[in-house]
Amino acid sequence: MAYKIVSSQCTACSACEPECPNNAIREKDGTFIIKPEKCTECIGYFDDPQCVAVCPVDDTCIIDNSYPRYEAAV
Ligand code: SF4
Ligand code: SF4
Repeated sequence: MAYKIVSSQCTACSACEPECPNNAIREKDGTFIIKPEKCTECIGYFDDPQCVAVCPVDDTCIIDNSYPRYEAAV
């Protein structure tokens, strides 16, 4: 995991929040954040990260390299 939201670019449109299969996204202090412990990069649910797919602002939902990439349990 995980994806993160670049808060300086987020317009707080809320489009991403209901699309997350893990309820990892929530509003906080006028912007939206991804809880990294809950983000599975949409693996097991969708081919593409849904927050990236629906976000109208390019490069706002991005990989957070401070976390190792998510690996689905096999
Ligand atoms: S990548 Fe998927 S699981 Fe992670 S925050 Fe975005 S929508 Fe949620
Ligand atoms: S879809 Fe993008 S701009 Fe809208 S709340 Fe989510 S991160 Fe912010």
